[in-house]
Amino acid sequence: MRLEDVKNIAIIGAGIMGHGIAQTYALGGYRVSLNDVTDTILNNALNRIRTNLETFAENEFISRDEIDEALSRITTSTDLEKAVGDADFVTEAAVEDIEVKRKLFNELDRRCPPRTILASNSSSLLISDFASGTKRQDRVVLTHWFNPPHIVPVVEIIKGEKTTDATVDLVYALLKKVGKLPVRILKAIPGYLVNRIQMAMIREVWDLWKQGVASPEDIDLAVKGSFGFRLASIGPLLTCDLAGIETWYKVSKYLFPLVSDSHEPPLAIRKMVEAGELGAKTGKGVFNYSQEEWDKIIKQRDKEFLHRLKVLYWSKQS
Ligand code: NAD
Repeated sequence: MRLEDVKNIAIIGAGIMGHGIAQTYALGGYRVSLNDVTDTILNNALNRIRTNLETFAENEFISRDEIDEALSRITTSTDLEKAVGDADFVTEAAVEDIEVKRKLFNELDRRCPPRTILASNSSSLLISDFASGTKRQDRVVLTHWFNPPHIVPVVEIIKGEKTTDATVDLVYALLKKVGKLPVRILKAIPGYLVNRIQMAMIREVWDLWKQGVASPEDIDLAVKGSFGFRLASIGPLLTCDLAGIETWYKVSKYLFPLVSDSHEPPLAIRKMVEAGELGAKTGKGVFNYSQEEWDKIIKQRDKEFLHRLKVLYWSKQS
């Protein structure tokens, strides 16, 4: 299959990630079929897409006409067969459960046309862990998006044991066509690239927070205003080069033995999970939230992200 042959895209799972991935492909001009287990979830997803598109228009990312145009390209169905029967490309964004994904991939393999490429948005598993039962292992691949998927530009592409270069090349071209920044991961390891880096950071952040080294507000502020500020423009390896490798070598020699190397998340975090303190969605996590505050944070976040996207990436693409 060539890029020009891709016309219909199906997204399985319409949650936090699925709705934003569907939106991206619809905005990129593709017919998108969105599947989930209930109509209520699918209707919520459509409402979220409309709200996201309105934020895009408010921030002059798209015109107001494009809101309805993009929405008109999206259909929803709880019937998997109907959703994928004519799909050229499928992205699975259902729950992070290997058994659910294995079952879905076997079903997708049966119900999709032979040409269809099957991608998964898993954030930790390898595609061969759950797609090895399909008869199209040359056409299964991971495309790992980041939340919010309709805004964050990078998507990691990770091959399975038998995925062909032709599949990766096509998926790479497809993601570029819809305005994403695809990154090829050369070695299929759990967590891939970005999440391994993120997890190394959060292990230390949780440890410092629980040690009381600074308040939660100050930890977030310190990261946002220091290496967080830099990282949107210069990556960590370029940062080392600019500061001098010998300095980073000396500091790492001193600090590596002192930073957390825990193989378990802290007990305090486990207790939060057990107490249902899951963050904004439950009203309490590290901070407390009302629904109104949560909505305000998301609106402000998306406005700032869109501004950054426009400045850092959009202008360079056109
Ligand atoms: P979510 O819980 O918000 O959404 C998952 C959706 O999948 C739900 O609406 C659920 O009803 C649906 N679903 C479950 N089983 C299904 C089935 N058999 N058929 C169709 N739909 C089904 O989860 P999410 O955060 O969107 O995560 C989805 C995937 O993306 C996971 O694999 C996750 O690890 C990955 N991911 C998440 C993030 C993130 O920040 N949330 C980032 C990158 C990748």
